[in-house]
Amino acid sequence: MALLLEGGTVITQDAQRRALRGSVRVEGARIVAVGDVRRERGDEVLDCTGKLVLPGFVNLHTHSPMTLLRGYGDDLLLEDWLQRRIWPAEAKLTAELTRAGADLALLEMLLSGTTSFADMYFFTDSIAQASLAAGMRCWAGFPLLDFGTPECPPEQMVPRCEDFVKRWLGHPLVTPVVAPHATYTCGPGTLQQAARISRQHNVLLHTHCSETRGEVYDVQAKHGARPVEQLARNGCLTERTLLAHCGWLTKEEVRSIARAGAGVAHCPVSNLKLATGGTMPLPELLAAGTRVGLGTDGAASNNTLDVVETMKLTALLHKHHRWDPTAIPAQVALDLATRGGADALGRSDLGRLEPGAQADIVVLDAQAARMQPMHDPVSQLVYAARGTDVETVLVQGKVVVRDRIPLTLDAPRVLQRARDAAHRLVS
Ligand SMILES: [Zn+2]
Repeated sequence: MALLLEGGTVITQDAQRRALRGSVRVEGARIVAVGDVRRERGDEVLDCTGKLVLPGFVNLHTHSPMTLLRGYGDDLLLEDWLQRRIWPAEAKLTAELTRAGADLALLEMLLSGTTSFADMYFFTDSIAQASLAAGMRCWAGFPLLDFGTPECPPEQMVPRCEDFVKRWLGHPLVTPVVAPHATYTCGPGTLQQAARISRQHNVLLHTHCSETRGEVYDVQAKHGARPVEQLARNGCLTERTLLAHCGWLTKEEVRSIARAGAGVAHCPVSNLKLATGGTMPLPELLAAGTRVGLGTDGAASNNTLDVVETMKLTALLHKHHRWDPTAIPAQVALDLATRGGADALGRSDLGRLEPGAQADIVVLDAQAARMQPMHDPVSQLVYAARGTDVETVLVQGKVVVRDRIPLTLDAPRVLQRARDAAHRLVS
């Protein structure tokens, strides 16, 4: 049976970036037609009159279970925040608590139009299972750190990671990822093992890179190379790499990331909140041809998982930073949040509405006072919309949110379990 999203303003995000009055026809998991599409007998019809129809957002860097630590230790120095709040709480994590946090994150992300996310956190199987149950696409990063994780001691990490990768490989919704945490928490041995797993199983390698100036100095002092070079030396800078943050890059590092063909996740809200100081050289990365998308980072350093908010912040941050209101236009911000993130995940069938693409679609209410009049739908979407304007969400052709009601998650139960889990974590 086909589903027809009829009569909206369709922001296609196709190669021509067309925004048109029309419809989108979905058959099974895929989009089969966009534009002037006629209703056929037996079609299920979703009336999109007065609404924006656009591709689902991609959250390219997050730690979904950290929703449990949202608002726990805000306004602290990074070292205090990590050492006095985050790490002691994380030491108490279990698979069950992780699941409660992941479910809360999934609920928040789906309700604000995110259909794909790249994650990195302990008890990765819980996150993968949560994502599967919610019907959302997850790039589930199994973290590697020299000193181990709450889930496994150092000597078990690499085999457990490889086991995780093998188990989820080829799944339509959950894609396994190897996630060495960063060059300041992973020595050459761990990085080389991560590189091997990525190469051998052809999976993404997701890592934090050059988030703070202190990190860059520390890695240089310890290893004689800045983080980008340290990753490259150990086989972790390839076309399968996804680098989060990149706030402190030199021009040469921008070139070497582009040469390697690595993807980059820009997390401006987290960077601003943690006051990391460095602003990602986004225009230079884009000019060099690098695939860039947007991440929220974990809810403990944002504090939402709202990609709509991140789009606006991205455009504003770079305009302000460059003293140039043309630096990052609305269309570029929307590209980053949709097709850019999808491209960084190696998925040219996501992040755009065109025949053959996966039917990951958002219907956004455009009737709020702040959304009118509609001179330019892309501008309105980036500068005026809110995540709460999202009404209906499809992933893989299945409706997972309808009229702001989540269909795959029991919202009251998710909220109660998350509150209980958060209480257990910090008490
Ligand atoms: Zn992060």
